[in-house]
Formats: sequence, C-alpha cells, structure tokens
Amino acid sequence: MRASQFFISTLKEAPGDADIVSQKLMLRAGMIRKVAAGVYTWMPMGLRTLRKVEAIVREEMDRAGAIEVTMPVVQPAVLWQETGRWDKMGDELLRFKDRHDRDFVIQPTSEEVVTDIARGELKSYRQLPKNFYQIQTKFRDERRPRFGVMRGREFTMKDAYSFDRSAEAAGQSYDNMFAAYRRIFDRMGLTYRAVAADTGAIGGDRSHEFQVIADTGEDAIVYCPASDYAANIELAEAVAPAHARPAPGAAMQKVSTPGVKTIADLVAFLDCPVEQTVKAVVVEGDGEDGLPVLLLVRGDHELNEVKAGKLAGVASPLAFATPDSIVAAFGANPGSLGPVGFKGKVYADRTVAVMADMVTGGNEDDVHLTGVNFGRDCPEPVVVDIRNVVVGDMSPDGQGELAIQRGIEVGHVFYLGTKYSQEMNATFLDDDGKPKFFEMGCYGIGVSRILGAAIEQNFDERGIIWTDALAPFTVVIVPMGMARSEAVREAAEGLYTTLKAQGVDVLLDDREERPGVLLADSELIGYPHRVVIGDRGLKEGKVEYRHRRDEASTDVAAADIAAFVL
Ligand code: ATP
Ligand code: MG
Ligand code: MG
Ligand code: MG
Repeated sequence: MRASQFFISTLKEAPGDADIVSQKLMLRAGMIRKVAAGVYTWMPMGLRTLRKVEAIVREEMDRAGAIEVTMPVVQPAVLWQETGRWDKMGDELLRFKDRHDRDFVIQPTSEEVVTDIARGELKSYRQLPKNFYQIQTKFRDERRPRFGVMRGREFTMKDAYSFDRSAEAAGQSYDNMFAAYRRIFDRMGLTYRAVAADTGAIGGDRSHEFQVIADTGEDAIVYCPASDYAANIELAEAVAPAHARPAPGAAMQKVSTPGVKTIADLVAFLDCPVEQTVKAVVVEGDGEDGLPVLLLVRGDHELNEVKAGKLAGVASPLAFATPDSIVAAFGANPGSLGPVGFKGKVYADRTVAVMADMVTGGNEDDVHLTGVNFGRDCPEPVVVDIRNVVVGDMSPDGQGELAIQRGIEVGHVFYLGTKYSQEMNATFLDDDGKPKFFEMGCYGIGVSRILGAAIEQNFDERGIIWTDALAPFTVVIVPMGMARSEAVREAAEGLYTTLKAQGVDVLLDDREERPGVLLADSELIGYPHRVVIGDRGLKEGKVEYRHRRDEASTDVAAADIAAFVL
C-alpha cells in the first residue's frame, strides 16, 4: 500500500474525554473515531488491525473444526421470549419495534437464534457434534461505555456454539475450544491467563475467562504464582471470601517513605495540590474488585454514607460520596473510581502512600475505614502498591500464597448444558430412537476489545508497539525527500516492489510530509519494522532499519535490506 493512496490521519493530542492509554493512542493513530458513547467508526488504519484479529480467530476456529455462519444482527423478540431472556436481560438488551409494532432486539449474543437453527437442522445424533461460529456486530447498552473499543456498546465479537450428544462429548468440545483460544492468544503475542469463572446456575467447573494482563484492566484475578491456580475475583470470593480480600497492613507490600509524616506530606508526595483541609480515608476493598481505595476527603465531610453502607455489590465506593466531598481518589482500578460526578481528581493505577494506621481490619461485609485528621502526627507511613496486592492467603491447592493482578477479559468459554435446548425444546434423535436435548457450550471472543488490550500491554511514550501478527502494516518504508531525490525514490520503490512480491504487508509512506512528521507517525502508529531511506545513507550504500522496540537504528547495506526484513 502507498500512503498517498491510503488514509492516514494522526492527531497530536487525544480528545479530552479519552480516559485510557489504548483509547488515546487509537484515536491519535487514526484507528477509530467516536460517533456516540461506545460507538466508533473503524478508520482504514484501525480496520486493518481488526481484520488481522478476525483472520487469526477465523483460521483457528476453522482449524478446530468450527463452521462459520452469519446470524442476523436484528432478531425477533419471540425467540428471546422463549428463553425468558427478553425479561431477564434488562436495559443492556437494546429493543425496538418495527412498523408493524413487533418487538425486536439487536443481538448481544446469539444463543436463541443458533438453538433455533439447531432444532430445525440437526435431527440425528449422526449430525453431531457441530460447532457454529460467527464474527459479528454485537450491541450491548452498557451502563458505562468507556475505554474506547474495550467497553463499547457496538462491538465485534466472535461467538461460537457447540452442540453435542452427551455431557461428556460437550466436555471435549469445550476442551477443544479452550485449546483453540490458547492458540489464538499465543499467536497474537498477548500475555494472558485463563482463569476459572463462575458457572452460575449451570454448575460444574467449565467456565473460563481469558484475561489479558494489564494494570488498567477492569477485572481482578486471584492467582497463585507457585501453581497454575487462577480464578476471577468473583469466583474466588464465592469459593472462599477470605481469599479475595487483601489482608490488612501486614500482608501488603510495604515500602517505607520517611519523608511523609502527615496528610500534607502525602498530598505533596502524590503531587496533588490540595489547598483545603483534608483527611484521608482508606476504603479497604470497593466491592468490585476487593482492592483498597484511598480517598482524600474534605475535612467538613463525614462520608456518613460510606460508614453506613455495605459495599458488596456496589460498583464504586465513590457512589456513596457526595459530589463535592472528595478531593481526590486513588485506586488500582480506574473503573472503580470512574466518572461518578465528584469534583476531585482521580488517580488510578499508581502506587499510593498510606499511613500505617489508615489500613484497618474488620469483617468482610463492613466498610473498613479510619479517618485521619490533617496535621495529626502519623506513625511511619507505608507505601502500598495497590496494583499488585499480595493477598496473604494460601491458594486452595495449597501450593503457595495468592496474589491479585488486573486483567482485561478478551475471551470466555462456557459449558451451557441443556439450559437453552430445554428452554427452546431443541432435540435430536439419539441412537436409541429417543429425542434428547442438545448439550451446548458457548464461546466468545471480544475481537475489537483485543486491540485495546494489545495496546494496553504494548506501548511507550511515542506510541503503539504492534506485534507482527496484529500490525496494520508489518513494514513501513520511510523515504527521506523522495520528491527531490531520484536515488531515494528508486531505492524505496525497489524495496516496496520486492517486499510486496514476497507477500509482506508493506506500506510505502510516500506522503509529501516533513521527515519529522513521517518518523513520528511511524512510531505513533507503531509498525513493527521501519526502513528509512535517505540520500546520505545511500551514498554509502546503506539504509536504516529499526524495530519499533529497538533503542536505535541499525545500518543495513541497501542491497541486503529486503532479505534483512524478510
Ligand atoms: P464483561 O465482563 O467485560 O462485561 P462479559 O462477560 O459481559 O464481558 P461475554 O458475554 O462473556 O462478556 O462476551 C464474550 C466476550 O465479548 C467478552 O469476553 C469480551 O471480550 C467481549 N465483550 C463483552 N462486552 C463487551 C463490550 N461492551 N465491548 C467490547 N467487547 C465486549
Ligand atoms: Mg458484560
Ligand atoms: Mg465478564
Ligand atoms: Mg464473560
């Protein structure tokens, strides 16, 4: 591709409402443009990366024996009434009426439609097992769309549904998908963990989330560094409530910060200019992820709502606070500190200095907090890295202590049993001639969310760092002064032609821009391999190669560069 015939539209600054690094970089790199809350246009540069994700997912689903279909985005309510989800799903399900006053939904997933297909098409055990998948637009009217494509309302999901004869066979389908998911996320070069998740009414142990590890993730994972135990925090809490709560004080990572003796010192230490009288309150666990939150509260506010309330099931401790009572809030999870309409500052994702006696214990359901008065002398403070709290409890497998880290849910595999087939009376004839309900499983991948997650893991101050697998273009050729220099033009065009002939996804950045702009754009957009061709180098028979992760460029003989890049 030639940049002059493509569309690159980078921004110096991200729009003010962008709240997370991946969202800022995707906007700045011209990958997406916002249309409405949680609704984005995929610009040409972004669309190429989306297609790369889709291609990997499609290849691995096909390899695993799943069969591609496309189900409608618009689905009739009657199917959703059969399973009862029409009533159960609440406001996340987008509903509307057609001109005949009939009810419809925009699919958030497609269990109903796929089960309807199965009951119409799969008549005999001889046709089983089957696994149908689609890569399709979903809509969920999320309460808080945020973080760009990571929690959109309209987004792309790969959803697959398996149909089996028996629970045992369904278990094999599940394992098969689990293995396919590993291949998918391995190929994308993501650092992730498969964690056990709650199976709800279905029961059993067959539900796993694939979580990309990132400090900015909305989910919390409880894991054991000494074994392969890993569960999402909801499950860990359901199984053993004590495990999910950071143990007070002693179990946390402590670092002494001798300079900080008072709240004023703390405020200065945190680089948080607060003129008014404040006190600090540590809310230990916020009900969403079990991690502590530090609030700097105006001295004349008591936060009675916090004291009275129970945090279980409440999204944010700040929900209890009046808008002007909080001066600043610190926590590991920007989500838990999210836009609740208070006037202070949110400091998410950073180490928090906490006075030793601000962290208190207590029983699980109560809010644990201690007010510390301004000026008051505090004992030696500690710094608690709330991004990676050691829980201080043993893993259920007895192999070591549990720890917590944050994750972004990019995939979910779930054994459904006969829940949907019973609700929709979907049966096949088994070899004994009797009708049986299908044993089902469902398997989702957040295709568009993956791109945000990949960037959260791979960026620096200059921009995105793509892996070869997901990059919009794997190689960029940046000619310096192509319009002026015949030698540069010839070398750039020659390399471009050679790489293209080899099937390399190469971009020739032939835009008439200043060299500085071309170089900055290449780093912002984050192509993994860059070749800079200029007159000075060519005189010595050299061009400059730089991997996006390299500290500096390497001179490569112009004659060898194609082979070098390949
Ligand atoms: P979450 O807990 O993040 O709300 P979920 O558990 O509701 O996700 P699933 O129903 O398991 O989501 O859907 C399968 C996959 O779709 C998820 O693992 C996630 O990667 C993706 N996904 C879900 N909701 C969104 C969204 N609002 N925007 C982008 N991707 C999403
Ligand atoms: Mg959800
Ligand atoms: Mg989830
Ligand atoms: Mg899920």
